[in-house]
Amino acid sequence: MGFDQYLGNQRIVSAIRNMLRNDRVPSAILFTGPRGTGKFTLARMFAQAANCERSHDDFCGECDTCQRIATFADLDAMVSRGLAERGESADAATVERTPLILQAHQDVWAIVPDPVRLRTPVARPLIRAGQLRAIQRAGNFMPQARRRVFLIDGADTVRWAEADILLKALEEAPPTTTMVLVATRPDAMPSTIRSRCISFHFAPVPHADVELLLKERADITPKDAKIIAQLSAGSPGIALAIDLEQSRQLRANALAFLSKAIQGQKFAPVFSASAQMVKNEETSFENKLEVFYSLLTDLLAIVLSSKSGPLRNPDLRPGLEELGKRLNVGWIQRATAELDRLESGLRRNVGRQLGLDAWAVTLASTNVREE
Ligand SMILES: [Zn+2]
Repeated sequence: MGFDQYLGNQRIVSAIRNMLRNDRVPSAILFTGPRGTGKFTLARMFAQAANCERSHDDFCGECDTCQRIATFADLDAMVSRGLAERGESADAATVERTPLILQAHQDVWAIVPDPVRLRTPVARPLIRAGQLRAIQRAGNFMPQARRRVFLIDGADTVRWAEADILLKALEEAPPTTTMVLVATRPDAMPSTIRSRCISFHFAPVPHADVELLLKERADITPKDAKIIAQLSAGSPGIALAIDLEQSRQLRANALAFLSKAIQGQKFAPVFSASAQMVKNEETSFENKLEVFYSLLTDLLAIVLSSKSGPLRNPDLRPGLEELGKRLNVGWIQRATAELDRLESGLRRNVGRQLGLDAWAVTLASTNVREE
């Protein structure tokens, strides 16, 4: 057990271990990069190594401290427990008064965007002022073990108006405290915060490594492991979460949706397909949009080249090639631009069904032959 269990981005692992070995740990570290590339996992391992009872630049995974911090490996379970402890009421006052704080060890805390949606049912989860104030206060205490570590997942959801609380927390913390900020969209963070941090950018993990990880699981055949690795686009976290059968169904539906949309004229079947997709609630709407992006990426690869290169949806190749014959580059580019508009409309809270229908109409009315 230890850092040797960590997959990919070894350069960052070495840098982190060097900091610990030389006792030169900064007060703020920022991990950026795509979803599922192991940013929070490495942040948790850092907290373990910084406090492990048996090691200084690695962690044993067996001592009491390591085991406590290891409960962060199942973050979803900790969030559910935290929400249950706060009680059912989700009014703004309760949410701020009882901030969602996840504590695995007296020195190691985490905050994540509070999933309680206060104003609208589609509002994005945010880190709240109450959570920031709690870690600002707690950051000032001396550790009982070696180092107080605060993991801030979704640091890019801190509202700019409240960024000063985080800034203060970073500035005031004693040298025995480290905050590890985790963000997929660092551009959304104020530069005052980013400039206080030592930053590391996580690259996607090579497909072969993701496949290796999946092969440890007995329930996945080597053939499926290959497909899942490609679907995950180098994110071990996403790869482990993929239910291949469910994913196949969703992607096949999305392909059928695209295929109906380009036939034009008959909108009724298109809308019933879009209603079907919105109704399926096992997958978030954002993930569905991601599926469309991956299909359009594959269609572009197919239209641009007659050779059969690797696809993001290798199991849908026959259907994609069939559809590709009826498309050209211009159509795919316009469809992608429209999808971008749908996604940003989503952030501004346009009705989802309406948004998808509008996209279908645009696709259907975009003449394939028009260049
Ligand atoms: Zn240990």
